[in-house]
Amino acid sequence: MNKKPFVTYDKLQEIVKEFPTPFHLYDEKGIRENAKALKEAFAWNKGYKEYFAVKATPNPFLIQILREYGCGCDCSSMTELMLSKAIGATGDDIMFSSNDTPEQEFAYAASLNGIINLDDITHIEKVEKAVGKLPKKMSCRYNPGGIFKISNDIMDNPGDSKYGMTTEQIFEAFRIMKAKGVEEFGIHAFLASNTVTNDYYPLLAQKLFELAVRLKEEVGVHIGFINLSGGVGIPYRPDQEPNDIRVIGKGVEKVYNEILVPAGMGDVAIYTELGRFMMGPYGCLVTKAINEKHTYKEYIGVDACAVNLMRPAMYGAYHHITVMGKENQPCDHMYDVTGSLCENNDKFAIDRMLPKVDMGDLLVIHDTGAHGFSMGYNYNGKLKSAEVLLTEDGEAKLIRRAETPKDYFATFDCFDFYKKVLE
Ligand SMILES: *Cc1c(COP(=O)(O)O)cnc(C)c1O
Repeated sequence: MNKKPFVTYDKLQEIVKEFPTPFHLYDEKGIRENAKALKEAFAWNKGYKEYFAVKATPNPFLIQILREYGCGCDCSSMTELMLSKAIGATGDDIMFSSNDTPEQEFAYAASLNGIINLDDITHIEKVEKAVGKLPKKMSCRYNPGGIFKISNDIMDNPGDSKYGMTTEQIFEAFRIMKAKGVEEFGIHAFLASNTVTNDYYPLLAQKLFELAVRLKEEVGVHIGFINLSGGVGIPYRPDQEPNDIRVIGKGVEKVYNEILVPAGMGDVAIYTELGRFMMGPYGCLVTKAINEKHTYKEYIGVDACAVNLMRPAMYGAYHHITVMGKENQPCDHMYDVTGSLCENNDKFAIDRMLPKVDMGDLLVIHDTGAHGFSMGYNYNGKLKSAEVLLTEDGEAKLIRRAETPKDYFATFDCFDFYKKVLE
């Protein structure tokens, strides 16, 4: 089984003439088709809205594409809020789903009239202090504890995660907020990450809908929206079956009609905060083979490193690799594909079967469109790459330039040393 890159060998040859490797390349057509499919899958819900998780791919040019499909921004930091504001997403277009939140970030989110989603019950007071009074519309993040299972498969371990309020706390939080004048309430939960099954959202929705009915009946609050957050995954491995967003949308609709509608809550809006699902498959890291090494193992050294894509080093995550121009050759060579960091975990692939790689070959590392560039850092003084958009017309457009040494040294610009180092 194989994964096909969204860019052809010939096109990529053209693109690397203009933009030196490594860089992240994004597929406008794919992003648009997927955003449209998501919108259609939830069209049955009148208030439906996707808040794109900005942290996944914080590029204003890419988020602007999603904005055309009605998407808002899910932010969890000051700079993510600033970025959203800069592209005109304010008010109900912002969901501020943060945790361990500094007070001034609550104040900033409120100044943009964004919806604040509280991670903890102690944050009620923090928001009051930061903002003066509670906004009329507020949301709380729920953590049911325990283990989250689909049938017999353990999906994740909420009881072990730092996020959200316990069941008791969310009831208490809603009572307090109601007493303090909050009029519209939302519920949010994120219980499993990168789920490659159509059952995650419907099961999560069932839990949240049941909770919403209890909150409405026992606390007497108006639930305006239920936020299923992120967690719908993508098939990183070529043998994985992708999620079908239409099936997922229908699954959520079914439990909506079974639980919310009979409770007189057929006006509740469904929100999502997808990141990976919106962008993951529509980005790739383009890199070039620049070294080969034959010691106890066979190594291919490329010009990208974990600074450009951290997931393999951080989680041992699988990212499929295509050696461009050799798509039809047999994968009869076993390699470790490495970057140049002084860290032995700086490997994009370990014991990977690939066609014979020659120096100068272009490698496409798949599915880097979310949590790829954005997780980057500057270890070993390595610089972050450019981001390039392959437009629907087949043009390559720069949407973020590569870092230069000047960017790396910018935090020394208040010292004389700064000028010397750039000479
Ligand atoms: C990371 C995150 C998301 C997006 O998660 P994906 O796995 O990319 O879909 C959504 N909401 C919150 C609060 C997050 O932290």
